[in-house]
Amino acid sequence: MAILSIKLPIHIHPLSLSFRFHDRCEGCSFRNQGEYYGGYRCNDSDCNRVLFHKECAESPLEINHPSHPEHPLRLTERPPRYECDICGIHHLADVPYFYHCSICDFNVDTSCARKPPPPPTHDFQDLPFVFPKISGIYNCCGVCGHSVVAGKYYYSLPSRDQYAHLECIYHEKKVNLPFHPNHPLELTISKSLPDDAEKACVLCGVRSEIVMYYCLICDFSMCLNCVRSPPPLVIEHSNTHEHHLTLLSRRISFTCNVCGMHEDGQVSYLCLQCDVMVHRSCIGLPHVIIINRHVHRITLTNHIGPGYSDCGVCRRPVNQFHGASFAPNMLFIRNVQQVTTFGMG
Ligand SMILES: [Zn+2]
Ligand SMILES: [Zn+2]
Ligand SMILES: [Zn+2]
Ligand SMILES: [Zn+2]
Ligand SMILES: [Zn+2]
Ligand SMILES: [Zn+2]
Ligand SMILES: [Zn+2]
Ligand SMILES: [Zn+2]
Repeated sequence: MAILSIKLPIHIHPLSLSFRFHDRCEGCSFRNQGEYYGGYRCNDSDCNRVLFHKECAESPLEINHPSHPEHPLRLTERPPRYECDICGIHHLADVPYFYHCSICDFNVDTSCARKPPPPPTHDFQDLPFVFPKISGIYNCCGVCGHSVVAGKYYYSLPSRDQYAHLECIYHEKKVNLPFHPNHPLELTISKSLPDDAEKACVLCGVRSEIVMYYCLICDFSMCLNCVRSPPPLVIEHSNTHEHHLTLLSRRISFTCNVCGMHEDGQVSYLCLQCDVMVHRSCIGLPHVIIINRHVHRITLTNHIGPGYSDCGVCRRPVNQFHGASFAPNMLFIRNVQQVTTFGMG
């Protein structure tokens, strides 16, 4: 597969398309919120695992935004301050990109910059896009039920006592998704469910403590992130497996054919033709890796054959019928993901 490298305004080096799942993005505040598939990565040795969502990487250099009609906003790395003037969030320096007006010192983080006007299907559709900072602290968001506090912007119409968090207006009350085709999922406040209800997202495993999408009939949960940017239903990546891999929207226990690890309740992709199952984090693993503890290049293999015993890193047994890595002197590595966690993206 040809690796496409492209120079985009957001990053100093050319970026190439990624074929793996990732849990953070350099371009926005996406961290510890589940995972997304694909996007772009930087392969330059100066950058240690610089990753971007596709839409963050492709952020235009300049935008016009309804929150600041006076001037265009320019994509700026490390602006003078790290507070977003729309959502009020003080980002840490690890979220370095903002849309910034240097004339007025107006600052918008990339996720607020991308928010379109409210979708027409929502009850809150006729509320203004941004409203001046409100003063009361006893109001509740009409979508998630959590309080709205002073010092932030909301969709609001105080005369009708209606408020909605900026991030909540994009969640529709009911969604029909291919991951659960028989019933719609409803936007549900987690605390309203019984203690034994499934609160972990079926696709990414993240537990939703505030709001989530839920099917009461099937006790089926999805987190907001997976509903908003769902993983692909089908992945084609010939280096991982020769056939299409299909998302299994159920968490089961299985042994991964790439890394050979047996785990319970992991999210996986399945080949419908040959019963091959792969962790989603094992899709797109590099076929050749170099680790400090071993002098040779290590190659990924799907079937080892009889006669080899323990993993050269963790010393646990390697199963001959499952994936593992091997080097020319027959060192085996049982958990390829551990080896590739750092530095390999
Ligand atoms: Zn992003
Ligand atoms: Zn913001
Ligand atoms: Zn301005
Ligand atoms: Zn809310
Ligand atoms: Zn999820
Ligand atoms: Zn259902
Ligand atoms: Zn695996
Ligand atoms: Zn297959």
